[in-house]
Parts: sequence; structure tokens; C-alpha cells
Amino acid sequence: MVSTRLARMQESATIKAANKASEMLKQGIDVINFNLGEPDFDTPEHICAAAANAMYRGETHYTPAAGIQELREAIAEKLRVENGLETKASNVLVTPGAKQAIFSVMMSVLGDGEEAILFDPAWVSYEACIHFAGAEPVWVPTDPENGFEPCDIGEYITDRTRMIVVNSPCNPTGGVYNKQTLKCIADYAIDHDLLVLSDEIYEKIIYEKQHISIGSMDGMQDRTITVNGFSKAYAMTGWRLGYVSAAPDIFKGLLKIQSNSVSSATSFVQYGGIAALEGTQQPVYDMVKEFRNRRDILVAGLNSIGIKCHKPAGTFYVFANVAEYGGGDKVTDILLNEAHVSVTQGSSFGYSGRDFIRISYATSQQRILEGLERIGDVLS
Ligand code: PMP
Ligand code: GLU
Repeated sequence: MVSTRLARMQESATIKAANKASEMLKQGIDVINFNLGEPDFDTPEHICAAAANAMYRGETHYTPAAGIQELREAIAEKLRVENGLETKASNVLVTPGAKQAIFSVMMSVLGDGEEAILFDPAWVSYEACIHFAGAEPVWVPTDPENGFEPCDIGEYITDRTRMIVVNSPCNPTGGVYNKQTLKCIADYAIDHDLLVLSDEIYEKIIYEKQHISIGSMDGMQDRTITVNGFSKAYAMTGWRLGYVSAAPDIFKGLLKIQSNSVSSATSFVQYGGIAALEGTQQPVYDMVKEFRNRRDILVAGLNSIGIKCHKPAGTFYVFANVAEYGGGDKVTDILLNEAHVSVTQGSSFGYSGRDFIRISYATSQQRILEGLERIGDVLS
């Protein structure tokens, strides 16, 4: 009854695990949710007001498929000023979430039998979309002792390689790539004439290091497809608003998919996006400050239990090695069933994640402390 293509794609493991935790909550079980990557803060007031005003003044119709011009201009300006990209509004496509942008990118640039390089571990949906597009992921190892920076990329490039996926700050590791690493990836991309998909959705949630957009590096402008969105930085997950900036030929392909699938991002939501980019950034700084405090509490707590992990430089995830306790799958089950603590098993993010669990600290300090106590009780 279903297409053979569908068999190539798994259900999203992050969403599946989150649904399981919500089911338990509905049954009245007090689950501590360290699972989903979703800020627990409310969307800042001025963003809600801008979208509500737009809705009440009648911005409730279809918009151009690529997005409203004011938002595309605001995004292009942001990408030029903050990220050093040489882009313009006509290269920017507004999408219903960064996820849709990534899906469309994979579908529009990857061909049957081609290869896309993923750094292991990587967020779940890249692999799914690569397979769905008929291509193959090629996993490149990373070094957990060095911020999960990728190693030996050159060995994995073949004559079928079409794209390298870069996600810095990285979900699930929290790693933020050094400039030298990005330069090395850029050099490979240029030497082998490859595209780079740079997913920068966590760029604002960063503590110790600086975010660098690989598309701003010499020779990378036309071969980099930069994806970003509003979900994480502005606590706007449910709004479904993201964007992609790409060279004109790639942009045209993305627009074709968008115009035949979702038509556009939601009209009044796009006005909220303008307010997010052009209004005060104070709420972002406040959220990041709180995330940093939570990270410090979580990492110190895990280390004192005996679960060794370094402080990740970005995102709101800690990727912790639990090999000593039986590995990621086993520990995820034990934590959920015996401690009612929901985490994501590292194996969902690639083979090298099998010894790890991902803990999202997008929840209150009080719940983090409670969760640590429960983890300590069952694992020690
Ligand atoms: N990229 C990464 C790395 C993510 O973790 C997520 C999580 N939602 C997304 C993209 C998609 O974000 P959204 O569709 O909510 O904009
Ligand atoms: N990106 C978040 C996560 O990894 C949200 C779920 C998803 O879209 O995968 O948990």
C-alpha cells in the first residue's frame, strides 16, 4: 500500500522518544523530560504581538511561496551582518521550519546513488532525508575528547560524494567547530567540488566559542546552502518558521518544491519572524544565560555521579558516555522505566553514539536537580 521509497526512511527517533515520554505523562507518571530539543521558555512577547497584529489586520492569506519580501530582506540583512554571507533577499527562501528546508535541500540536490557526508553522531533527520532522496549517508568519525570535531574527512570522500553536512553548534553533541576544522571542510569541498549544507539553527545558543558560518569562508559562497530558523533562538518551535539561503540555481529548485508542497510558511507567523530579527535581542541573551547555568549544573551533577562528560560549548544538549553502565540503549531504558527520566539513546544519532545518551537541559534547574538525583539513584 505504500511506496518503496518510504521504506528508506525511519520515523524520527527524537520525536518518537518525546511522544513516549508525553504518553507516560498523560498516564499520570511524573516523567522528567530530558528528551526533546525544545526551549521551555515562552516566545518573547513582542514577537507574539507582531504576529497577532498581523493576523488581526488581515494578513491571513497566501503569501508568495518564497516568503514575504520584508522578512526575506530582514533575513538577508541578518545573514550579511551577523554571518558574513554575501547573500540577498532573492536567494532567501522562508520555510515552515528549518526541518522543511533541510528536507527540500536533500530532495533537490542529491541524486540516486550519490553520497552525503555526515559527522557521526548527527541529528536524526539528515540521515532520513538523505535516504529518502535516494542517496547514501557516509559517516565520518568525530573525536569525543576534542569537542566531537570530525577526523580524517578526506578518507571518506569518493567520486560519488555530493555534499557535506555541517551542523555547528551540533545536535546531539553540543560541539562547536573550530575555525581550522571549518577551513579544512571548506578546503575539501572546494577541492572536490562539493556542496555544503550548513545547519546553523543553534548558532545563538553558544557559550564559550564563537559561531562561524562556513558560507562566509573564501570560495564557499556559492557551494554553501545555509539553513537556520527561529525555533531555538527565539523559543518558537511551534510557529514552524525557518529559512534557507542558497545560490540562485539551488534556490530555484527549492522554490519549486515549496510551491508544489506547502506553498509557503504561515502568513502572520512570518511577521513574527520580522519582529524576532529586528526587535530587541535581550530575551535571547537571557535564555542563553539560563541555559548556561543549567548546563553547568547538569555537567557537574553527572560528573559527580560518575558519568564523565565535558562541558559542551553550545546547544542545550549534553552527550554523555554511559558505556560503563551498559551503553546508551540500555541506560535509556533503565532511566525511563526505573527512574522515570526520559533521555534519547545516542544510537539514534549514528553508530558512534551507541555508548552515549543525549540529555536535553531545556527544562528548569529544579527538574534538572531532581533528574540528577533519580539518575544517581538508579545508576550508582
Ligand atoms: N536542525 C537541527 C540540528 C535540529 O535539532 C532541529 C530541531 N528541531 C532542526 C534543524 C529543525 O528545527 P525547526 O524545524 O523547528 O526549525
Ligand atoms: N531537534 C529537536 C531534537 O533533536 C526536536 C525534534 C526534532 O525535530 O528532531 O530533539
